[in-house]
Amino acid sequence: MMKVLIEEMSWSEFKEAMVGNDLVIIPVGSIEEHGRHNPLGVDMLVAAWCAERIGAKAGAPVAPVMPFGWAAGIAGFPGTVTLDPELYRKILVSYAESYIKHGARRFLWVNGHGGNVPILGMVMGDLYEKYGVVGSHTEWWTTLAQINEDWPCDDHGGHFETSVMMAVNADTVDMTKARAATVSDLTDGITATGYRGVRIGLPIPLDKRQKVGNMGRPPFGANKELGQAMMDAYIEYNVGLCAELRKIKL
Ligand SMILES: [Zn+2]
Repeated sequence: MMKVLIEEMSWSEFKEAMVGNDLVIIPVGSIEEHGRHNPLGVDMLVAAWCAERIGAKAGAPVAPVMPFGWAAGIAGFPGTVTLDPELYRKILVSYAESYIKHGARRFLWVNGHGGNVPILGMVMGDLYEKYGVVGSHTEWWTTLAQINEDWPCDDHGGHFETSVMMAVNADTVDMTKARAATVSDLTDGITATGYRGVRIGLPIPLDKRQKVGNMGRPPFGANKELGQAMMDAYIEYNVGLCAELRKIKL
């Protein structure tokens, strides 16, 4: 059977995987707090797990997961890592360039972390400008919220994300440690949900406003079955997207 993970291939097997194929899947994550009950690696574990399954179905090699991301707003929680965003942009461009050199012309970035979204947009722009290669990035929460109204995915380490982590590796979740988190108001007007209920950007770290770490819908009721159904739908969507990316004329 053809191998899917590039880290398990020899160089000659990778060369073979790029014969008649120019698509490489790159999972990107983050090491960051997800409440007291979830592992720090949620975003990298979920991205790598999905990418492997998408790659197997789409017949595309999957690069090793980039474990780190830009997580400045929550870096006050122990164990969280955040890379300088300009450095991160350069690392991702350099990472992709290594595959471009060996035949990659299309990329699917399977992204597990919200903070990476603006940087991935710049990385894909850089690569297109420089090499004329195309890329697309997807995030499970955005994709699922738009294809199924029952899955608004309105949390960080809460109901939906904990369910997803359970599907990926239930042993890493300890629901006895799950807490409801209350984000403190900054002023009478700027509350946990923003200003007049509309979300606003503020560079005040999360650990200054709460001590639990999860946000949005609380984690109670999270379950593996829900997470599995969500991941199945996300994987199926991305397999379809891979087929379309391959049709783009370059
Ligand atoms: Zn996450």
